[in-house]
Amino acid sequence: MHGIYIAAILTSLLAIAGFGTLIRKLDKPATGWLLLAAVLICLSLQPLAFYFVRLPLDHWLAGHLARTSLAYQWLVTLYAPLTEEPAKLLVLLIPAIFRDIRPDNFPRYALAIGLGFALGEMWFIAERVSHQPALAKLPFYQFGGYVSERLMTCVFHSAFVAITLSRLRRGWGLGLGGAMVAHWAANFPITLMAWNVGGLGRATWEVIVGLWLAGLFVAAVAWLAYLIFGKVLPLRLMYGLRHCPECSNDFEPSMLAINFGNARYERCPHCRKWLWTKRSTAKEIEAHKSQE
Ligand SMILES: [Zn+2]
Repeated sequence: MHGIYIAAILTSLLAIAGFGTLIRKLDKPATGWLLLAAVLICLSLQPLAFYFVRLPLDHWLAGHLARTSLAYQWLVTLYAPLTEEPAKLLVLLIPAIFRDIRPDNFPRYALAIGLGFALGEMWFIAERVSHQPALAKLPFYQFGGYVSERLMTCVFHSAFVAITLSRLRRGWGLGLGGAMVAHWAANFPITLMAWNVGGLGRATWEVIVGLWLAGLFVAAVAWLAYLIFGKVLPLRLMYGLRHCPECSNDFEPSMLAINFGNARYERCPHCRKWLWTKRSTAKEIEAHKSQE
């Protein structure tokens, strides 16, 4: 078998294991078989958008503009955001799925749609790579770049569609616009690299693109974590429960605080005083529980 297809199988299994578990276990009520249906339907949407919208659009555009013209090269950067973000929403045409997506569970659907869409794209790309003679003979373990890039794409597609779904019933056009802008911004440095802007050279641009994507990946994970867990958990992960030296109560770390090493200056919600707090020790949390 072609190495890229083995890499695609492994990547798919990793994505399904990671994302699938998260989607299944998330504590946000949604109909299980509809979530699964959303993943399955989205498998086909990226290749469909490519062959039935993007390619015809490109042929039409190339008939009016020279492929070497600046206008054409800029318009090409719009293809992915303009075709892929609306394509993800085709799954909402299934009335049962549309009805099942609510403000309290949309992050779960964002993960399901993102996973399905990214899996479809994974195999679309593997198929295209398999036709490149230079890559045809490589063993699967040479496609490590493909594996990490495609796994990151699961997160990106989920994060983008989450922007649209977050506004599904309160001006979804604005949400879709936001998703397109985010998608475009994610890809744009790759275009800058292709253009070799500033004559920086391929190696320098690869570092810039790598840093850009790493930063964006952290932002995408933070955005999804915020949607899934709310404000509390990311703060709790970083600062733990806080212990009030005044009234000995433990409380969730507050958004508004001054951080200084392990100490934070924040307001205790129990005694309402502003003071320096420390992370609650297991003993303190236990002692507090036994008092209740
Ligand atoms: Zn207190």
